[in-house]
Amino acid sequence: MSLPSGIIYTIVHSSRKTIAVEVKPTGEVIVRAPLRMTNSAAHAFALSKEEWIIKSLAKVKERQKELLAAVPPPFTGKEGEALPYLGGLLTVRRMAGLPEPEVMEDSLLLPAEYGLSDIIRWLRERAAKELSHRLAKYGRLLGVSWKSFRLSDARTRWGMCSGKNSINLSWRLIFCIPEAIDYVVAHELCHIKHKSHKREFYAELERVFPDRVRVERWLSLHCMFLNYL
Ligand SMILES: [Zn+2]
Repeated sequence: MSLPSGIIYTIVHSSRKTIAVEVKPTGEVIVRAPLRMTNSAAHAFALSKEEWIIKSLAKVKERQKELLAAVPPPFTGKEGEALPYLGGLLTVRRMAGLPEPEVMEDSLLLPAEYGLSDIIRWLRERAAKELSHRLAKYGRLLGVSWKSFRLSDARTRWGMCSGKNSINLSWRLIFCIPEAIDYVVAHELCHIKHKSHKREFYAELERVFPDRVRVERWLSLHCMFLNYL
């Protein structure tokens, strides 16, 4: 079916009581109708919602644009390349005789002989430092203590809190804005009190991290960092 604006949509009948229109993150438009509703009645409903559908599709386009803009540059460690670091971008400068990497304003000074695995080792060290002091801070704020902390290499999740309260956190959080690192640490520590994502969990998390929704959005826009390097 299509609307006067040219938008194509699908009608899906199911055993529901009410009619609703849905715009998926992919841009697909679906009108969900009760089993006995005719297609022309469903179409009349879609017509009445056309303005809303147009607005929702514009939002989908905007988000797709943001997602594309958030794609990190390819990185192999060469002179002049950009490396995401704590929400910014550092430009690699190779230096002979440098004993270890150094961050200097927007530059990452790297020993001339450093390969990608050396750079990753250094990033992991930086991540461990960023995470450790946040664990202490949010542990104190939440009044919880964790059993152990391990830096994780998982490419599917930023963090994890086991049933026995061991915390795993991705070293790739080092690519993220500082608030996102705060958020993930606070989130996992909050699981020591509440194991599932129930209302009490989010109430407790928001007590120590009021900016939750904005940062969750940032993290979902930048999920590709989870699989970077
Ligand atoms: Zn969780």
